[in-house]
Amino acid sequence: MFEKKENSLLYVKSKLFTCIVLSLICLQSVFAEDSLEISSSKAKSILFVYGGWEGHEPEKCRDLLVPWLKSNGYKVTVSPSLDSYLDKKLMSSIDLIIQIYTMSTITEEQEAGLLKAVRDDGISIAGWHGGLADAFRQNTEYQFMVGGQWVSHPGGIIDYEVNIIDHNDPITKGLSDFKVKSEQYYMHVDPFNEVLATTTFSDEHAHWIKGATLPAVWKKRYGKGKVFYTSLGHTSDVFDIPEAFTILKRGILWSLGDLK
Ligand SMILES: [Zn+2]
Repeated sequence: MFEKKENSLLYVKSKLFTCIVLSLICLQSVFAEDSLEISSSKAKSILFVYGGWEGHEPEKCRDLLVPWLKSNGYKVTVSPSLDSYLDKKLMSSIDLIIQIYTMSTITEEQEAGLLKAVRDDGISIAGWHGGLADAFRQNTEYQFMVGGQWVSHPGGIIDYEVNIIDHNDPITKGLSDFKVKSEQYYMHVDPFNEVLATTTFSDEHAHWIKGATLPAVWKKRYGKGKVFYTSLGHTSDVFDIPEAFTILKRGILWSLGDLK
Protein backbone atom coordinates (compact mmCIF):
# COMPACT_ATOMS: atom_id res chain seq x y z
CA MET A 1 0.00 0.00 0.00
CA PHE A 2 2.73 2.41 1.06
CA GLU A 3 4.84 1.40 -1.91
CA LYS A 4 1.90 2.00 -4.24
CA LYS A 5 1.37 5.43 -2.72
CA GLU A 6 5.04 6.25 -3.10
CA ASN A 7 4.96 5.03 -6.69
CA SER A 8 2.00 7.25 -7.53
CA LEU A 9 3.74 10.18 -5.81
CA LEU A 10 6.81 9.52 -7.89
CA TYR A 11 4.62 9.35 -10.97
CA VAL A 12 3.04 12.75 -10.18
CA LYS A 13 6.47 14.22 -9.46
CA SER A 14 7.87 12.97 -12.75
CA LYS A 15 4.85 14.34 -14.64
CA LEU A 16 5.27 17.69 -12.90
CA PHE A 17 8.96 17.73 -13.80
CA THR A 18 8.13 16.98 -17.45
CA CYS A 19 5.58 19.80 -17.47
CA ILE A 20 8.09 22.28 -16.02
CA VAL A 21 10.77 21.24 -18.50
CA LEU A 22 8.35 21.53 -21.42
CA SER A 23 7.17 24.97 -20.22
CA LEU A 24 10.77 26.16 -19.95
CA ILE A 25 11.51 24.92 -23.46
CA CYS A 26 8.43 26.77 -24.76
CA LEU A 27 9.37 29.97 -22.96
CA GLN A 28 12.94 29.72 -24.21
CA SER A 29 11.77 29.33 -27.81
CA VAL A 30 9.53 32.41 -27.47
CA PHE A 31 12.46 34.49 -26.23
CA ALA A 32 14.81 32.92 -28.75
CA GLU A 33 12.45 33.96 -31.55
CA ASP A 34 12.50 37.56 -30.31
CA SER A 35 16.23 37.70 -29.87
CA LEU A 36 16.76 36.18 -33.31
CA GLU A 37 15.30 39.21 -34.99
CA ILE A 38 17.52 41.87 -33.46
CA SER A 39 21.28 41.78 -33.69
CA SER A 40 22.14 45.17 -32.19
CA SER A 41 22.12 45.93 -28.51
CA LYS A 42 22.71 49.64 -29.07
CA ALA A 43 19.52 51.63 -28.64
CA LYS A 44 18.78 53.42 -31.87
CA SER A 45 16.37 56.25 -32.56
CA ILE A 46 13.47 56.27 -34.97
CA LEU A 47 11.27 59.10 -36.22
CA PHE A 48 7.77 57.81 -37.00
CA VAL A 49 5.90 60.34 -39.16
CA TYR A 50 2.21 59.68 -39.83
CA GLY A 51 -0.65 61.52 -41.48
CA GLY A 52 -2.04 62.19 -44.95
CA TRP A 53 -5.01 60.32 -46.42
CA GLU A 54 -7.00 58.63 -43.64
CA GLY A 55 -7.99 55.63 -45.82
CA HIS A 56 -4.56 54.12 -45.21
CA GLU A 57 -5.15 54.20 -41.44
CA PRO A 58 -2.05 56.08 -40.36
CA GLU A 59 -3.09 56.06 -36.67
CA LYS A 60 -3.81 52.33 -36.61
CA CYS A 61 -0.46 51.66 -38.27
CA ARG A 62 1.24 53.88 -35.69
CA ASP A 63 -0.45 51.87 -32.93
CA LEU A 64 0.63 48.62 -34.55
CA LEU A 65 4.29 49.50 -35.04
CA VAL A 66 5.35 51.95 -32.35
CA PRO A 67 4.73 49.56 -29.40
CA TRP A 68 6.63 46.83 -31.26
CA LEU A 69 9.56 49.19 -31.90
CA LYS A 70 9.62 50.32 -28.27
CA SER A 71 9.42 46.75 -26.99
CA ASN A 72 12.59 46.05 -28.95
CA GLY A 73 14.42 48.86 -27.17
CA TYR A 74 14.22 51.57 -29.82
CA LYS A 75 13.67 55.19 -28.92
CA VAL A 76 10.75 56.41 -31.03
CA THR A 77 9.71 59.99 -31.72
CA VAL A 78 6.15 59.95 -33.05
CA SER A 79 5.18 62.95 -35.15
CA PRO A 80 1.98 63.89 -37.00
CA SER A 81 3.81 66.74 -38.77
CA LEU A 82 6.15 66.96 -41.74
CA ASP A 83 7.75 69.89 -39.91
CA SER A 84 9.81 67.24 -38.12
CA TYR A 85 11.91 67.14 -41.31
CA LEU A 86 12.86 70.79 -40.59
CA ASP A 87 14.03 70.02 -37.07
CA LYS A 88 17.80 69.79 -37.49
CA LYS A 89 18.43 68.68 -33.92
CA LEU A 90 15.89 65.87 -34.22
CA MET A 91 17.05 64.84 -37.69
CA SER A 92 20.66 64.62 -36.57
CA SER A 93 19.70 62.36 -33.66
CA ILE A 94 17.87 59.60 -35.55
CA ASP A 95 18.87 56.42 -37.38
CA LEU A 96 15.65 55.73 -39.27
CA ILE A 97 12.57 57.51 -40.57
CA ILE A 98 9.35 55.50 -40.88
CA GLN A 99 6.74 57.39 -42.85
CA ILE A 100 3.05 56.74 -43.53
CA TYR A 101 1.81 59.94 -45.18
CA THR A 102 -0.32 59.26 -48.26
CA MET A 103 -0.79 61.93 -50.95
CA SER A 104 -0.85 65.33 -49.28
CA THR A 105 1.83 67.91 -50.04
CA ILE A 106 5.26 68.64 -48.67
CA THR A 107 6.94 72.04 -48.70
CA GLU A 108 10.24 72.59 -50.48
CA GLU A 109 11.99 73.04 -47.13
CA GLN A 110 10.43 69.93 -45.56
CA GLU A 111 11.38 67.85 -48.61
CA ALA A 112 14.92 69.24 -48.57
CA GLY A 113 15.28 68.27 -44.89
CA LEU A 114 14.08 64.73 -45.58
CA LEU A 115 16.17 64.16 -48.70
CA LYS A 116 19.33 65.58 -47.12
CA ALA A 117 18.92 63.33 -44.08
CA VAL A 118 18.75 60.20 -46.24
CA ARG A 119 21.06 61.14 -49.13
CA ASP A 120 23.80 63.05 -47.28
CA ASP A 121 23.57 61.96 -43.65
CA GLY A 122 22.88 58.26 -44.27
CA ILE A 123 19.64 58.05 -42.30
CA SER A 124 17.47 55.16 -43.50
CA ILE A 125 13.85 55.42 -44.53
CA ALA A 126 11.23 52.65 -44.48
CA GLY A 127 7.58 52.51 -45.38
CA TRP A 128 4.77 50.70 -47.10
CA HIS A 129 1.97 51.07 -49.62
CA GLY A 130 0.88 54.66 -50.32
CA GLY A 131 2.37 56.03 -47.12
CA LEU A 132 5.77 56.02 -48.79
CA ALA A 133 5.15 55.42 -52.51
CA ASP A 134 2.09 57.55 -53.07
CA ALA A 135 3.09 60.56 -51.04
CA PHE A 136 3.77 64.04 -52.43
CA ARG A 137 2.86 63.30 -56.05
CA GLN A 138 4.41 66.54 -57.26
CA ASN A 139 7.84 65.75 -55.87
CA THR A 140 9.89 63.74 -58.33
CA GLU A 141 13.13 63.88 -56.33
CA TYR A 142 11.24 62.34 -53.41
CA GLN A 143 10.08 59.57 -55.78
CA PHE A 144 13.68 59.14 -56.96
CA MET A 145 14.56 58.39 -53.33
CA VAL A 146 11.68 55.92 -52.76
CA GLY A 147 12.30 54.03 -55.99
CA GLY A 148 8.71 53.90 -57.17
CA GLN A 149 5.38 55.63 -57.43
CA TRP A 150 1.95 54.02 -57.28
CA VAL A 151 -0.07 54.64 -60.46
CA SER A 152 -3.03 52.20 -60.29
CA HIS A 153 -4.62 49.32 -58.41
CA PRO A 154 -6.84 47.72 -61.08
CA GLY A 155 -10.04 46.25 -59.63
CA GLY A 156 -9.58 47.87 -56.20
CA ILE A 157 -9.70 45.24 -53.45
CA ILE A 158 -8.91 41.92 -55.16
CA ASP A 159 -7.36 38.54 -54.45
CA TYR A 160 -3.76 38.34 -55.57
CA GLU A 161 -0.50 36.61 -54.79
CA VAL A 162 2.86 37.85 -53.57
CA ASN A 163 5.81 35.84 -54.86
CA ILE A 164 9.07 35.72 -52.97
CA ILE A 165 11.85 35.90 -55.54
CA ASP A 166 14.86 36.27 -53.24
CA HIS A 167 15.02 33.35 -50.83
CA ASN A 168 18.49 34.24 -49.51
CA ASP A 169 17.94 37.83 -48.45
CA PRO A 170 17.40 38.05 -44.66
CA ILE A 171 14.20 40.06 -45.22
CA THR A 172 12.48 37.29 -47.21
CA LYS A 173 14.47 34.23 -46.16
CA GLY A 174 12.34 31.23 -45.20
CA LEU A 175 9.10 32.78 -46.44
CA SER A 176 6.80 31.24 -49.05
CA ASP A 177 4.53 32.89 -51.59
CA PHE A 178 1.30 34.09 -50.00
CA LYS A 179 -2.15 35.35 -50.90
CA VAL A 180 -3.59 38.76 -50.10
CA LYS A 181 -7.02 40.33 -50.48
CA SER A 182 -6.27 44.00 -50.85
CA GLU A 183 -5.07 46.54 -53.41
CA GLN A 184 -2.53 45.15 -55.86
CA TYR A 185 -0.17 48.03 -56.51
CA TYR A 186 0.77 48.76 -60.13
CA MET A 187 3.80 51.03 -59.89
CA HIS A 188 6.34 52.94 -61.92
CA VAL A 189 9.62 51.71 -60.52
CA ASP A 190 13.35 52.32 -60.47
CA PRO A 191 15.44 49.62 -62.20
CA PHE A 192 18.05 49.93 -59.44
CA ASN A 193 15.66 48.58 -56.79
CA GLU A 194 16.83 45.31 -55.27
CA VAL A 195 13.58 43.42 -55.64
CA LEU A 196 12.79 40.76 -53.03
CA ALA A 197 9.18 39.92 -53.91
CA THR A 198 6.90 40.54 -56.87
CA THR A 199 3.25 40.29 -57.89
CA THR A 200 1.86 39.38 -61.30
CA PHE A 201 -1.26 40.97 -62.79
CA SER A 202 -4.10 39.12 -64.53
CA ASP A 203 -6.22 40.49 -67.38
CA GLU A 204 -9.36 40.62 -65.24
CA HIS A 205 -9.39 44.34 -64.49
CA ALA A 206 -7.06 45.79 -67.15
CA HIS A 207 -6.60 43.35 -70.03
CA TRP A 208 -3.54 45.07 -71.51
CA ILE A 209 -1.37 44.42 -68.43
CA LYS A 210 -1.93 40.65 -68.39
CA GLY A 211 1.20 38.91 -67.11
CA ALA A 212 2.94 42.09 -65.98
CA THR A 213 5.17 41.33 -62.99
CA LEU A 214 5.80 44.26 -60.67
CA PRO A 215 7.99 44.60 -57.59
CA ALA A 216 6.07 44.28 -54.31
CA VAL A 217 9.04 44.49 -51.90
CA TRP A 218 12.37 46.16 -52.48
CA LYS A 219 15.39 47.68 -50.83
CA LYS A 220 17.69 50.25 -52.34
CA ARG A 221 20.10 53.09 -51.73
CA TYR A 222 19.59 56.81 -52.02
CA GLY A 223 22.97 58.47 -51.64
CA LYS A 224 24.31 57.30 -48.28
CA GLY A 225 20.91 56.17 -46.99
CA LYS A 226 19.07 52.87 -47.14
CA VAL A 227 15.47 52.63 -48.34
CA PHE A 228 13.04 49.79 -47.61
CA TYR A 229 9.59 49.51 -49.19
CA THR A 230 6.68 47.05 -49.37
CA SER A 231 3.59 47.79 -51.44
CA LEU A 232 1.38 45.80 -49.05
CA GLY A 233 -0.69 47.48 -46.36
CA HIS A 234 -3.67 49.32 -47.84
CA THR A 235 -5.24 48.83 -44.42
CA SER A 236 -3.49 47.83 -41.23
CA ASP A 237 -5.22 44.41 -41.14
CA VAL A 238 -3.11 43.32 -44.14
CA PHE A 239 -0.37 42.94 -41.52
CA ASP A 240 -2.45 40.22 -39.85
CA ILE A 241 -1.00 38.05 -42.63
CA PRO A 242 2.14 36.69 -40.94
CA GLU A 243 4.34 36.90 -44.05
CA ALA A 244 3.29 40.51 -44.74
CA PHE A 245 4.08 41.63 -41.19
CA THR A 246 7.32 39.65 -41.05
CA ILE A 247 8.53 41.34 -44.24
CA LEU A 248 7.69 44.79 -42.85
CA LYS A 249 9.34 44.14 -39.49
CA ARG A 250 12.45 42.61 -41.05
CA GLY A 251 12.62 45.47 -43.55
CA ILE A 252 12.59 47.97 -40.70
CA LEU A 253 15.30 46.01 -38.87
CA TRP A 254 17.40 45.85 -42.07
CA SER A 255 17.05 49.63 -42.43
CA LEU A 256 18.41 49.96 -38.91
CA GLY A 257 21.29 47.58 -39.63
CA ASP A 258 19.89 45.23 -36.99
CA LEU A 259 18.67 42.30 -39.07
CA LYS A 260 20.77 39.21 -38.68
ZN1 LIG B 1 -4.41 51.90 -50.68
